[in-house]
Amino acid sequence: MTKHTDLMSSLSDVLQQYWGYDSFRPLQAEAMRAILENRDSVVILPTGGGKSICFQAPAVAMPGLAVVVSPLISLMKDQVDSLTECGIAAACVNSSMSQSERQNVANAIRRGQLKLLYVAPERLCTEKMLDFLNGCQVSFFAIDEAHCISAWGHDFRPEYRMLQQLRTRFPGIGVHAYTATATEHVRHDISAQLGLREPEWLIGSFDRPNLVYRVQRKSDVVTQVRAVIDAHPDESGIIYCISRREVDELAELLSRAGYKARPYHAGLPDSDRMRHQDEFLNEGTNIIVATVAFGMGIDKSNVRYVIHTGAPKSLEHYQQETGRAGRDGLAAECWLLWSAANFMTWRKMQEDLPDDAKAQAYECLKGIERFCTGIVCRHKTLVEHFNQPYETANCQACDVCLDQLDLVSDPLIVSQKILSCVVRVKESFGADYVAQVLVGSKDARILGNGHDELSTYGLLKDERKEGVRDWIEQLSSQGFLERTGEYNTLKLTDEGWKLLKGQAIPRLLKPSKKKSSADSGTKLEADSWEGVDRDLFEILRVLRRRVAEGHGVPPFVIFADTTLRDLARRRPTSLVNFRQVHGVGDKKTTDFGTLFTETIRDHCQQHQLSTDIVAPSVTKSRSAPSDASTALALSTTKQLAFDLFREGKSLEQVATVTARSPSTVTEYLAEFIAATQQCDPAPWLSDSLFAQIRLVASTTGTEKLKPIFEAMESAVPYDQIRIAVACIKNLPPEKSP
Ligand code: ADP
Repeated sequence: MTKHTDLMSSLSDVLQQYWGYDSFRPLQAEAMRAILENRDSVVILPTGGGKSICFQAPAVAMPGLAVVVSPLISLMKDQVDSLTECGIAAACVNSSMSQSERQNVANAIRRGQLKLLYVAPERLCTEKMLDFLNGCQVSFFAIDEAHCISAWGHDFRPEYRMLQQLRTRFPGIGVHAYTATATEHVRHDISAQLGLREPEWLIGSFDRPNLVYRVQRKSDVVTQVRAVIDAHPDESGIIYCISRREVDELAELLSRAGYKARPYHAGLPDSDRMRHQDEFLNEGTNIIVATVAFGMGIDKSNVRYVIHTGAPKSLEHYQQETGRAGRDGLAAECWLLWSAANFMTWRKMQEDLPDDAKAQAYECLKGIERFCTGIVCRHKTLVEHFNQPYETANCQACDVCLDQLDLVSDPLIVSQKILSCVVRVKESFGADYVAQVLVGSKDARILGNGHDELSTYGLLKDERKEGVRDWIEQLSSQGFLERTGEYNTLKLTDEGWKLLKGQAIPRLLKPSKKKSSADSGTKLEADSWEGVDRDLFEILRVLRRRVAEGHGVPPFVIFADTTLRDLARRRPTSLVNFRQVHGVGDKKTTDFGTLFTETIRDHCQQHQLSTDIVAPSVTKSRSAPSDASTALALSTTKQLAFDLFREGKSLEQVATVTARSPSTVTEYLAEFIAATQQCDPAPWLSDSLFAQIRLVASTTGTEKLKPIFEAMESAVPYDQIRIAVACIKNLPPEKSP
């Protein structure tokens, strides 16, 4: 086995030994391989996708020190605490530390005792630090929250731009960028700004199958919010409001009603903000009511719900903010309570932007507006918004697919009334005007146009204009209507004409909904509790908090909720069985095994519960749907790719059909070549290029791709070398170079 394959297989051991995890999540193995191969990379995984381990595990497996750039002290601290609890030597240097603490870190690095160093970009890019690191064995650089380097992103930090010099100051050392950002513009900016060399692009699915999305018109917001909170007693949640005033008012109201809720916004004194954030992280308080100022420094994995009490200004923001729920892979709820006034507020706030920026901001608003009024699967809408395909017919995790919408019983008739009104006004007016005609408005414009004499005038006179407008939005989002021209005039699409003839059935929401949130349990949620003794879970939760206090770290750093549920399900009473539980590695067994197993034994004896259940962990297979379903999707995708290769399809064709990046498709092809033992790279590589690569490989060997790449003067992309090498390895020994 080569050194590289050795390292790769040792990564699985590292994952098990330190974190107690059995398998990689999608793209983690590929991301780690890029580090081992010393190829620059850009890794884009959704929040909770497991980006950190992509660089932490290789840092442990490789010799030297990995330098991780992170924008916030709180993020660095949580990550260093988490690593330390797992038994990994990590440290950070930041402005909150004393001179002697920083000196201790430097000494540890000099002695080769640290595997990971976390540092902010401005500190890393000082001459002193760069010089110091030049004298150390740096294994690679990991740039966390890499979107901060792009002025196009939502969290631009000018100090990230200083990282441009890493590529030139450390030419031989890999630079790897990590972000959850979904926009293509930002992604490419990251690579360009960092000056990455032919980076490996690893782009995961943006879907978060464990998040249950629900969208509701805002009515009595406090009652609506309380219904969600009450469905999650003692669990953590974030409530986003648009303005600081709303934050203060809602936090106050909730506190007075007896909930543990704290406000967070940029107008509060720093000390209050920090205290409230810490209380939330340490589970002293369950609920944080906040503006968008809250979030980036939050690694807390067990946020069980996120409520928006107003529509955010874009789907990108919505994805980012809801992404903070359910990082641990367990079911979590995302409620969006909106009103038409939200969009007017945003438009007003964006009015004074320069023309280009304003047009872009208004476009973003339209996206979130469509999401609010639409009644298409929420997962599908979000994923497709980020230009990825979504094929699941029923996500089982949104109000639309769970049939929790209050639907109009005769949608065809109502829609036909609306569409025929659009036709009667000669497809020359916008949504508001059409709605006014339908409700029989006496507006001067309508009377002036003689539209009060149309047969469709007042056809929906028992409805409110706002309700009819919503229906028009719903018909647009389902593709029956489209807007055209400068004035957004409504036109029927081909589907709309079919509907008018009764050949299609739309779905329309009733203007007022009766269903409340409290009855909203999902199968997803029920599955993640299967077999869990809830009382024991509560006892372990309290124990976890006590242990965390003793260690001066947040509870989720000690154990994730997934681990607590698995403990309360399998109820181990021996250290051996404790070690088998998801998320329990060697050090945590030594540190906490006795305490937790004794507590479990006592509880089980008292309540005559069976212990040491060896059935496969439900947590692993069911309650982490993101893992299970994406892994399944991955294997079927690979299978599909293999079938297409068998048919001789090109890499581009396979990439399009499977919606995978070119580099992932090349990986599949290399696996396909190995599995079928073929020695001929046609049709994926020309004979002449294959011959050239073989010639070079006869001197460099095929253990690593980089020497071949360099010997060919960087003129041949890695992907092509990978295909050639896969074939060379199948050649019979006498023909092998
Ligand atoms: P991100 O940075 O992408 O938001 P994190 O790195 O914080 O995500 O990971 C989210 C959670 O998933 C963490 O609790 C982490 O320990 C866990 N996790 C990461 N990789 C795996 C894996 N291979 N198996 C199980 N859990 C994992």
